Amino acid sequence: MTYDFDLAVIGGGSGGLACARRAAAYGARALVVEAGRLGGTCVNVGCVPKKVMWNAAHIADSIRDAPDYGFQVDVTGPFDWAGLKKKRDAYIERLNGIYERNLANDKVELVRGFARFTGPHTLEVGGRTLSARHIVIATGGKPMLPPVPGVELGITSDGFFELESMPRRVVLVGSGYVSVELGGVFAALGAKVTMVIRGETVLRSFDAMLGAGVLKAMREEGVEFVTNSFPQLLERTTSGELELVLTNGRRLPPADCILWAVGRQPLVGALGLERAGVNLDATGFIQTDKYQATNVEGVYAIGDVTGRAALTPVAIAAGRRLSDRLFNDQADRYLDYENIPTVIFSHPPVGTVGLSEADARARYGDDVEVFLSGFVPMYHAMTTRKVRAEMKLVTAGAERRIVGAHVLGWGADEMLQGFAVAVRLGATKQDFDDTVAIHPTSAEEFVTMK
Ligand code: FAD
Repeated sequence: MTYDFDLAVIGGGSGGLACARRAAAYGARALVVEAGRLGGTCVNVGCVPKKVMWNAAHIADSIRDAPDYGFQVDVTGPFDWAGLKKKRDAYIERLNGIYERNLANDKVELVRGFARFTGPHTLEVGGRTLSARHIVIATGGKPMLPPVPGVELGITSDGFFELESMPRRVVLVGSGYVSVELGGVFAALGAKVTMVIRGETVLRSFDAMLGAGVLKAMREEGVEFVTNSFPQLLERTTSGELELVLTNGRRLPPADCILWAVGRQPLVGALGLERAGVNLDATGFIQTDKYQATNVEGVYAIGDVTGRAALTPVAIAAGRRLSDRLFNDQADRYLDYENIPTVIFSHPPVGTVGLSEADARARYGDDVEVFLSGFVPMYHAMTTRKVRAEMKLVTAGAERRIVGAHVLGWGADEMLQGFAVAVRLGATKQDFDDTVAIHPTSAEEFVTMK
C-alpha cells in the first residue's frame, strides 16, 4: 500500500511540531495539519503569553520593594495593560511566523484546516483526502466550563489573553495552577482578587506544603479565598457588573471579570475517531501505551490529548521519541513519565519534581524520610514585604534516595531544573550533602538540610 506521507500529525502545537520535524530530520515525508495558529496552546494562549504577564507582575513587585533598597521610584500613571498586550501579541505573531518557516526549512508540509479521520490511515481536510502510514493525534485540549447558568458571561484562560484592559475586581473559580498563576498576576498588578476554591487549599495535586505556602502568600498579598465553594449562577446586574452566586446561596460582591479555571478537556470531539476505531479512556482522553500507541495500529497520540502530564516539554519529548522510534530504528525509545519537573508561576513561584510526601508514603510506606527548610530569603532582610520560602526533600529507603524535591519561593522557577537531573540520576541525600553550597542563595538550602 502506498501513502501520500510517512507521517501525518494532526495539530501544530508543541507536540505535533516537534514530532513532525524530528521525523523529517530522518528523511520521512511528514505532514502537519493545523486548524488554528501554529504553536498551539503554549505559544498562543498558554506558557508564552502567561510568562510575559508573570514577568510584568514580578516587575510590579520589584517596584514595590525598590524604596527599601534606596530607590526613589516615580511610577506615573496606571499600568499600561493594553500597551503590553499589543507588544505581547506582536511577539507571538513573530513566533507563529518562525514556526511556519521552521516547517518549510525542515521540508514538513503544512496543511491548514481541520482534520477528520476517514479511516485508520486517511484524513479529510477541507474536502481533500490525505493518507499516511503513521498518524499522530496531537490535538491538545481546551478549557472546561462549569455547567452553570450565565457561564458565558465569564471568560477562561483563553479570554484572559484577549483582555484589552485590566479588570479592577476579578473572581477566579478554580484551585489548579492556571487559576493560581492568573490570580497571582492580577493581584500583583493591583486588581482586587477573589478565588473560589472547592476545598480548603490550592494546588491539591502537588505536595501539600506547596498549596499551603501559596495560599498563605497570596492571602498576605490581599487575595481573598472563598473555600469549600461551588458556583451556581452568574448574573449581570443592571449596572453591568457581574455577580457570582454560590451553591450555598452566598452572593459574592460585584466583579468586572469572572474567570473559570476549572480544568481542561481533550480536543477529540469532531475528529471522527470512531472511523479509525481509536479508543478513549474512562475520562475521555486518548488511551495510549508507553510507546504513545493507541489501540489502532499506525495511530498514536501525544501531548495534552493523552491526559498525562499536560506540559509543553512533555508533549515535545513524547513526539520526538515517537519519531526516533518510527523513523530511526530506536525500537525501545519512549518517554518515561516519572520525575517530570515543573514550575508553577505563582507569587512566589513553585518548583517540583518527583513524588509528593503523600505519594511517597503510599508507595514506600515507612521507608520514607522528609527534610524541611523554611526561611525568609536574604533579599527580604531589606524589605518591609516578607515572602517566605519553603523547601522539602523526600527520600526513600535506607540509602535515602531523593524521590521528591519541592520548593516554594523566589528563584524556585530557575532553581529546579538542575536538581531534576540529580533526582533522575538517582541522587541520594548524601550526594546532596556532599555537594558544596552556592552562597548566598536560597538554592543552597537544598544541600544543607539537616
Ligand atoms: P496544543 O499545544 O494544544 O496543540 C494542539 C493543536 O492542535 C492546536 O494548535 C489546535 O488548533 C490543533 N487542532 C486541534 N484539533 C485539530 C484538528 N482536528 N485538526 C487540525 N488541528 C487541530 N506548559 C508548560 O510546560 N509550562 C507552562 O508554563 C504552561 N503554562 C500554561 C498556561 C496556560 C494558561 C495553559 C492553558 C497551558 C499551559 N501549559 C504550560 C500547558 C501547555 O500549553 C500544553 O501542555 C501544551 O501546549 C500541549 O501541547 P500539545 O501539542 O499537546 O497541544
